[in-house]
Amino acid sequence: MADALLSPVTDDDGAPFWEYAARGELRVQACAAPACGELRFPPRPCCPHCGSFDAEWRRTSGRGRIWSYVVPHPPLLPAYAAHAPYNAIVVELADAPRIRLVGNLVTRADAPLDSVDPHRIRIGAKVQVVFAEVEGVVLPRWTLERP
Ligand SMILES: [Zn+2]
Repeated sequence: MADALLSPVTDDDGAPFWEYAARGELRVQACAAPACGELRFPPRPCCPHCGSFDAEWRRTSGRGRIWSYVVPHPPLLPAYAAHAPYNAIVVELADAPRIRLVGNLVTRADAPLDSVDPHRIRIGAKVQVVFAEVEGVVLPRWTLERP
């Protein structure tokens, strides 16, 4: 649909991420090799550190910091133009600083995409994950720890 927000495209490796998100849990893949245990994202079959194919999904605190952000302006896809200017932030996870997730900063889980004034966004600000169902998919979104 031309007027719909884009939904995540899942594959076998990434499906658990979305299943945990639907339960309100932010989990990332972790190497299950005893001598390794490295966290990784995006999901993939093999550990880039040790080559092991053993993996598990580890729950994170859901806390992080804004590592970068953009404020998209039109021209945009119609569904996004309706919300502009909104934000897309890159969050560095507190539990795994090498992992960065892209999402939206909002005032509360079910708030609109443009609920945060772009001028209030700061690199390094602490954020907390929240979850909201958007067009049938539960998405991780982010709120400021200190609004
Ligand atoms: Zn490993």
